[in-house]
Amino acid sequence: MKITEMFNKNRPVLSFEVFPPKKTSPIESISEVLDELGQLKPDFISVTYGAAGNAANTDTIDICEKIKKKYGIESMAHLTCVHATRESVDIILEDLKKRDITNILALRGDIVEGMEPQKDFLHASDLAEYIKAKSDIGVSGACYPEVHMEADSMREDIANLKIKVDAGVEHLVSQLFFDNNCFYDFIEKVRIAGINVPVEAGIMPVTSKKQIERMVSMCGASLPAKFSKVMQRFENNPEALRDAGIAYAIDQIIDLVANGVDGVHIYTMNNPYIARKISEGVKNVIGHDI
Ligand code: FAD
Repeated sequence: MKITEMFNKNRPVLSFEVFPPKKTSPIESISEVLDELGQLKPDFISVTYGAAGNAANTDTIDICEKIKKKYGIESMAHLTCVHATRESVDIILEDLKKRDITNILALRGDIVEGMEPQKDFLHASDLAEYIKAKSDIGVSGACYPEVHMEADSMREDIANLKIKVDAGVEHLVSQLFFDNNCFYDFIEKVRIAGINVPVEAGIMPVTSKKQIERMVSMCGASLPAKFSKVMQRFENNPEALRDAGIAYAIDQIIDLVANGVDGVHIYTMNNPYIARKISEGVKNVIGHDI
């Protein structure tokens, strides 16, 4: 099933994101995570692609196949193109087709240290256009409520997002954010720009101070005072910080749903405990059966 078809339901879409295990861990270590996430019956699970160069692409595709075949849950394979060629993308598209994986998150990605970028695809929009011309796979893309780090302004970033959607991206997943007002402002501008595809809100539950500092330095998400106070108060108490992080994510989701969000994409960090707590906390709000 294509992800766009999921937005016909009378409730927001609920999806999870996982990453392949690091090279030092066996691929099977993801099985435990998936066994638990599978019980939460999200609408789909997406699998990252070589983030920080940790995994080969076949891991992403293997995990997507498993999610679909073993758990009967739709999956979405992330694919970055900054180091890809048309030939390498053709091979991946063929593999996805063989394994009945019907959704891709088309990304530019970031240059991996020590690797030369390729020239076939400069932006995610180039990859989206190429995939659409070659296959009938569903194509999703990323978006940035607080502006992508390389863009000079929100206006420029949204104009580029429009190019991406016009190139064939049918659904967007947002970068994480902690201030819902940033997301609402963004959505208003996106709609004014004539971008009418569903946009899922990316929610990252905070599990440790270190994790959040790393994520914020990577993506520049702003931290509302309410959030910073929680971090300061509980930074040396991991259990309390975890509980507070779960409660904060639930609070964000309730507000998003009340404001008519198309869907919620939870960055699970391969932590099924947190995914379960959040899913149980919002199941009636989202109208999602667990
Ligand atoms: P693009 O859409 O190409 O945008 C990148 C920059 O170029 C932006 O500043 C944009 O304004 C500009 N731009 C875009 N199109 C044009 C154009 N046509 N002309 C001129 N400028 C343009 N990274 C991974 O390595 N693996 C993953 O699995 C992964 N998953 C992600 C999932 C989500 C939901 C998100 C939000 C990000 C993910 N990333 C992942 C990170 C992502 O690869 C980086 O944020 C990367 O810097 C940008 O990728 P993009 O696809 O958004 O790029």
